[in-house]
Amino acid sequence: MKLATLVVASRNPGKVGEFRRLLDPVGWRLLSLDEAPQGSSTSWEEDEETYLGNALVKAVAAATSTRLPALGDDSGVEVQALGGWPGLRTARWLGEGATAAQLREGLQRRVADLAQDERRAAFVCALALAVPTADGALRTFTSEARVEGSLLPVPRGRAGFGYDPIFVPSGETRTMAELNPEEKDFHSHRGRAVRQLLKALEAAAP
Ligand code: IMP
Repeated sequence: MKLATLVVASRNPGKVGEFRRLLDPVGWRLLSLDEAPQGSSTSWEEDEETYLGNALVKAVAAATSTRLPALGDDSGVEVQALGGWPGLRTARWLGEGATAAQLREGLQRRVADLAQDERRAAFVCALALAVPTADGALRTFTSEARVEGSLLPVPRGRAGFGYDPIFVPSGETRTMAELNPEEKDFHSHRGRAVRQLLKALEAAAP
């Protein structure tokens, strides 16, 4: 399926930047929500019980208000020894107003209470692409991917965003925030989910 302009249904500049980088080779023009027509008034409730459900809510809300193809992303970090917590609540477990730095510091403190072998964790990313069709409906495509790794109680590195400074992907010694952007995209949940989504789009009828 061929697309020209796409709106990213997110107000997280870290995610938008990564999508610009990951999708640059495909040649799409990526707009942030606030750059898209009617985008700044788009809102949604993230109250589904799966990452995919939330990604679809975001994509459908943005495609409905802008009438552009819209990409929704719902992601989270899951600490194995804590039963997958914070998972779907990764952005909100400290309350709605918490900053990215407060969230990361809070998780660092939680991880510091765990033994080294209990710090195994994974980043998860679900993507949904909603494409308006000629008959006024939406055609949707989805993907979901994860990257296993472990969390550190002390941050390292300055690249990336969110929890990157405390997440070390399996097989690496550096945190996501110490990797260069291409290395993060190779390992990351979002990089993997984007590659999977592009395959689904390639296979789809025009
Ligand atoms: P949501 O997808 O908007 O619900 O937010 C996901 C939460 O996970 C936010 O706190 C993000 O900062 C964090 N997050 C998502 N993707 C990444 C990533 O690639 N690196 C670090 N943190 C991330």
